[in-house]
Amino acid sequence: MKTIAKKDVKALLSLWTKEYHVLAPCRTARGDFIFADFSEESFTLDYKKPPLPPKSVFLPHTEVIFTVENGQFKETVTAHNVVLFGIRSCDMMGILQCTSFMTRDRNDIYYSTKNAMARTVVMACPGPQNETCFCTTTFSGPVAHKGFDLLFYDMGESFIIQTGSKRGEDILMSGPLSDIDNAVARRKIEAFTKQAVENIPVVDEITEAMTRLESGNVDEKIWEHFGQKCIVCGGCAFVCPTCTCFNVYDHESSPGHGIRARAWDACLYGGFTREASGHNPRATQASRLQRRHEHKLLYYNDTDVQGGLCGCVGCGRCSDYCPVRIGTLEVAKALVSN
Ligand code: SF4
Ligand code: SF4
Repeated sequence: MKTIAKKDVKALLSLWTKEYHVLAPCRTARGDFIFADFSEESFTLDYKKPPLPPKSVFLPHTEVIFTVENGQFKETVTAHNVVLFGIRSCDMMGILQCTSFMTRDRNDIYYSTKNAMARTVVMACPGPQNETCFCTTTFSGPVAHKGFDLLFYDMGESFIIQTGSKRGEDILMSGPLSDIDNAVARRKIEAFTKQAVENIPVVDEITEAMTRLESGNVDEKIWEHFGQKCIVCGGCAFVCPTCTCFNVYDHESSPGHGIRARAWDACLYGGFTREASGHNPRATQASRLQRRHEHKLLYYNDTDVQGGLCGCVGCGRCSDYCPVRIGTLEVAKALVSN
């Protein structure tokens, strides 16, 4: 296996920028953490989970699909060789779930082309990013077990790098790297993983909520309670690494000229669930919230990716960002509270 000194990571990423569009953790001028184009000035290894999951690289918030000029169509979606450096294990699982959904029944070529051209470099978590992490409950972290091209383990002053694919091996062909004996590396990785798993407690309420939803042993009033609180901002869906709802719309700027675009949508919006006839099968906010959480904890049986576990990867963002505290953690706790 390979190792790299932390002080040399910038040099490695700089090298990759000659061939790839490198997205990496950055600290903004206001001190926030985001994933953005690598730059030596803003790059940081001292970062927490960013608000937006990496699905936005493959399914951007808003994307023009084609333009029309004088009645002629021109496709506008482009794909690049991308390296996603430093994503967390939960987000790696989120990418796998999104990819499964976007390619399983009908291949979404805009998504899949971009996804196929991306290299994923996962940063194993030594412990929770904050108090809302529950990846050990959803078996999606703290160490990725599939999908990655490279996996970095923090060893203090250096990282041990595990390769997960030939493409991962290829991007390690050059750079300020050293070899480490495989048996020694494996022992260190095992110790890291054992400690990391111990650092992130399993949330029993999530598992129990899944069991209750499956058996139908749920107090329906809970959905009314949350439905009355929800301000219908859609934030929980936008920050969720496994949410893929989008809407397609046309905008005619003048006769014969315009665009077709798609933009994120959310199952929390009445306009999203309303059918063309005007009938809305999920007419209340309570029913839409119920559906969202059943989608995360009950219906989504993606056996290809998550072993049929659930559609939530335990990132905790919905709890972090919902302004009225209706994250999956809060909902699961309410579901099992009586
Ligand atoms: S439902 Fe919430 S905790 Fe689960 S993956 Fe989505 S944002 Fe993360
Ligand atoms: S983030 Fe909270 S308030 Fe906003 S739509 Fe989701 S549940 Fe409702």
